[in-house]
Amino acid sequence: MKFGFTRAVLMTAFATLCTMPAWAQDLGPRFKKLKEGIFVYAQNPADSNATIILTSEGVVLIDSGHRPPDSVALIGALKKLTSQPVRYLVNTEPHTDHTTGHWLFSPPAIVVAHAGATESMKEGLNPERVRKIVAEYPDLQEMKNFRPITPHIEFRDKMTLHVGDRTFELSFLKSVHSEADTAIWMPKERIVFAAASVGVKRFSNLRPFVRIADTLNAIKMMKALNPEVVIPGHGNPGTAKILDDMESYYNKLMDGVRQMVKQGKSLDEIKKELKISGTEEWEGQDRFANNIEAAYRGVTGK
Ligand SMILES: [Zn+2]
Repeated sequence: MKFGFTRAVLMTAFATLCTMPAWAQDLGPRFKKLKEGIFVYAQNPADSNATIILTSEGVVLIDSGHRPPDSVALIGALKKLTSQPVRYLVNTEPHTDHTTGHWLFSPPAIVVAHAGATESMKEGLNPERVRKIVAEYPDLQEMKNFRPITPHIEFRDKMTLHVGDRTFELSFLKSVHSEADTAIWMPKERIVFAAASVGVKRFSNLRPFVRIADTLNAIKMMKALNPEVVIPGHGNPGTAKILDDMESYYNKLMDGVRQMVKQGKSLDEIKKELKISGTEEWEGQDRFANNIEAAYRGVTGK
């Protein structure tokens, strides 16, 4: 019975296809498959990255998407990838463009962040801001249940998470961007999540408490891990070149400001005159002034 046999084979093949894990391209062009079971998502290159990591004992999520629709896109991808729950949601920083979407995953996800994250998030997610966020997405069904979720676990300096077959080494990055920045190292996969300590062809917003010397130390620490893949807080994932490029930029910036200070120039004069080669095409040119201020603080101690 040739027909019957072919039919049986086709049915089996179809059944196999249905149970196979989705290929990365099925998740859409905004998802990049970095390694087996590891998918990075951003709607736009300038948005925050959110990463899905499948383990043998459930999912670990690193940040929850730039805006609520991004978090909903992550939910859609998770449904295609696994029937397992998100067990941990690790924050690289507490700002809203990394943490607003938590309510879609927690519970059951346990939110992990560095000490100081809860305080910082409470400021960013006051009732007025919550009303604003909800009003921004009137067509998003999921917004009906929106509520701010702050971390369940805050660690100090270092913490290791073992989830199924994967290991995550969390380290505090002091004074690089927010009150609670965390780098995450996956030693077997050789992936480092660099948080907002580095960008990709982009000036970071260096707030008054940011110290470039601490950022250079953070970069040195991450380079010493010898990562194969670097995932910045914002911007396309790449290699250790992301770390090299930022290190070189901050060194040039510090040297340039130091020389001008030695020549007796004022902060205003430095802002008018200083140019750093290689940054002409970078995004966020309006932040260059606060980068110079950070370097000036570092050089003069003021
Ligand atoms: Zn931020």
